[in-house]
Amino acid sequence: MKKSAWTSMYRLQVFLILLSFSSCTCAQDSYKEERAKMVENQLIARGIRSPEVVSAMRKVERHRFVPEHLKNQAYRDGPLPIGYGQTISQPYVVAYMTEILELKPADKVLEVGTGSGYQAAILAEICDSVFSVEVIPELGQQAIRRLESLGYANILVKIGDGYRGWIEHAPFDAIIVTCAPGRIPEPLTQQLREGGSLIIPVGERYVQELVLLKKKQGKIVKKSVLSVLFVPMVNEWGMPY
Ligand code: SAH
Repeated sequence: MKKSAWTSMYRLQVFLILLSFSSCTCAQDSYKEERAKMVENQLIARGIRSPEVVSAMRKVERHRFVPEHLKNQAYRDGPLPIGYGQTISQPYVVAYMTEILELKPADKVLEVGTGSGYQAAILAEICDSVFSVEVIPELGQQAIRRLESLGYANILVKIGDGYRGWIEHAPFDAIIVTCAPGRIPEPLTQQLREGGSLIIPVGERYVQELVLLKKKQGKIVKKSVLSVLFVPMVNEWGMPY
């Protein structure tokens, strides 16, 4: 090949490399922009105020928690399927449930229903440590790999039935449940620290209330805060609670 042909091939290569870099930066930036819009239009506009929650929602890249073919929908105002009949919750619901727990930096939190790991990542940005339980082994393994690759060293995921909580790490300052049982699991209220808060969707398949519980002087105080729709809480054999 003549020298000039080599030179033009070399130029073409450099051009292609630069092109791939610029399109890659573009994609990154467009997600950043979409994320910022999501925070403004879906969260702040609807009353999410906690600076910690807002900054976590701005930082955590939701598109990394959804299946490849749904990445471009990651910042829309709704839940998305994550496989095995499960869903990643709507951004507003994630922010709302996190805010209502009034987390402090030193808090240790239990999550029931790891799913994609997105909610766990949001919690991990705000508090000291997150213990998360997932009943579907494949989803749990995926979340473990994903959270590890994103560098979250303060999240521990266990495969198992979260109805029973995680006794080895109890008591928890806060508990968040992202699947809906028909009644509040007794082990969870037992594993809540004095003064702690538990947020949980409770009800039938298509009619559920988000319930906030607080433990005050050993007693549980309850209030309903929002109508919601979550996937059911099931045991290891898929039977609903
Ligand atoms: N927090 C998740 C949302 C997951 S959807 C996220 O951010 O993506 C609810 C999850 O709860 C599903 O993955 C489902 O498999 C799981 N789940 C249902 N019953 C459970 C149980 N008894 N223990 C633990 N996880 C459970």
